Amino acid sequence: MALSIERGRESVSRCGCCGKISHTIRGFLGDDSGPYGVYFAGYTEKHEDGIGTLIISLGDWSEKATPKDRQAILLRVRGPKMEMMVGGPNHSPWNDVGVLGEILPRERALKHPRLQDYYHAADHIVAEDERFTKYFTG
Ligand SMILES: [Zn+2]
Repeated sequence: MALSIERGRESVSRCGCCGKISHTIRGFLGDDSGPYGVYFAGYTEKHEDGIGTLIISLGDWSEKATPKDRQAILLRVRGPKMEMMVGGPNHSPWNDVGVLGEILPRERALKHPRLQDYYHAADHIVAEDERFTKYFTG
């Protein structure tokens, strides 16, 4: 399966915890047959933990689908090697974004039958969307 990435909107806001500048990067995943998923990636400048957040929503992204037809897994990403750890909605700055579907709690995400697909998508995002990775590796 060949995944492709299309870049979406990038925006800047103030971090809910400390008021520092937070970046949100959006993008779309596609495969040979059409829409495959959507991702949000973000980080807050000068956060001491140096951990970024990546939410990937997979499932049905066709036009007739609703958020109930997809599920999102949150990965916490630590630079500079972009190591990934599964997190949950408690780590999400985007809990008000309903379009992604349910953000699974960590315990359920770890048991998800498509967990490897989420990791595969994450590898593509980290490799191909340097809007996200540049902060950690630059
Ligand atoms: Zn903060």
